[in-house]
Amino acid sequence: MSEIFTGSFTQQEPIPEAGIEAALDVLRSGRLHRYNTLGDELGETALLEQEFAAYTGAKYCVAVASGGYAMGCALRALGVQAGAKVLTNAFTLAPVPGAIAAIGAVPVFVGVTENLVIDLDDLKAKADQADVLMLSHMRGHLCDMGALMQICDAHGIKVIEDCAHTMGASWNGTPSGRHGLFGCFSTQTYKHMNSGEGGFLITDDEEMAARAVILSGSYMMYERHAAAPSADVFERVKYHTPNVSGRMDNLRAAILRPQLANMDEQVAAWNARYHVVEEGLAGTPGLTLTNRPEAETYVGSSIQFLLLNWTEAKVRDVLARCAKRGVELKWFGEGQPRGFTSRYDSWRYVDSEPMEKTDLILDGLLDMRLPLTFSLADCALIARIIRAEVSAVFQQA
Ligand SMILES: *Cc1c(COP(=O)(O)O)cnc(C)c1O
Repeated sequence: MSEIFTGSFTQQEPIPEAGIEAALDVLRSGRLHRYNTLGDELGETALLEQEFAAYTGAKYCVAVASGGYAMGCALRALGVQAGAKVLTNAFTLAPVPGAIAAIGAVPVFVGVTENLVIDLDDLKAKADQADVLMLSHMRGHLCDMGALMQICDAHGIKVIEDCAHTMGASWNGTPSGRHGLFGCFSTQTYKHMNSGEGGFLITDDEEMAARAVILSGSYMMYERHAAAPSADVFERVKYHTPNVSGRMDNLRAAILRPQLANMDEQVAAWNARYHVVEEGLAGTPGLTLTNRPEAETYVGSSIQFLLLNWTEAKVRDVLARCAKRGVELKWFGEGQPRGFTSRYDSWRYVDSEPMEKTDLILDGLLDMRLPLTFSLADCALIARIIRAEVSAVFQQA
């Protein structure tokens, strides 16, 4: 009899008790708005910003309403105008081109490699088209950040990093979000910290930070921030920066602070699960795992593999067989977007050229979340199921 997995791929861990207690305190005080503070007191949101800046090593941090908001805020702080082109990944999630389109700018898609990172040759080829790159570290894969920054610096391209899947990750010891001008993070339920919705913007640039604070909806209460530049910087920008409300509130910040304190343990727990699945899948005929370079410190909260050059019918067969045994795989080759898996040609509000190499990779790309509610034994079972079903379909004539 074949083994079946009965766990859920969408269930997260509970919020830590310390977060629940802190949230109850905020609720009992009624002071949910981040600027509802007394005297010099720092509220939960300001404290969280200070702690996240320290965690990433950034000078400045602004907590906001979502990861998508953080990306839009970075584009606005940079002064990207309607009609301007912005380079971004062909392989990413819908909120990334969405943030670009939301300000009336135009995404220009850059291809993906077999290791699921941005194709640096394609980036070079398109580098003259735009002054900004919205770089998505999609599914937690970091490209050679040294090489990428060299290309971007040579072409005067400002880099905004989408770190929705790389909170806790780094390249050559530098945290993701700290290579470009801005790092954008999400604290939505399916990311590395969970406040339902939420996000961060980090930067070392004082003027960009001041604009981001005003943009986020600080009114003139920016002095109540603890991870923002000094008042004189705000004097330079405050009359020229619109308020586009998207603040974080104290309730979410209260939930997040204990999670941030526990991040290293969470990262280790994800990577232990990732390695069990990776080992279980290694050497499966017809299946290609992504190669993770030495310089990359990643967070294995999801795993991807490729069924390269497989027919659509065979990929569908693998999906169906795995689903029957309780293993939910997401397929980026699907003709129509389902759930979270859309692709560059699903975003039809953008005129994009077909990208042959990228299509070949997306057509064979399968993805699976690894929530911390899975045990290591669960992960080993999941890998056995995938291995058996991929092998069975691969061997068919
Ligand atoms: C989730 C996600 C975002 C945006 O985050 P939200 O908080 O949901 O707006 C951006 N990029 C990627 C790759 C994501 O997965």
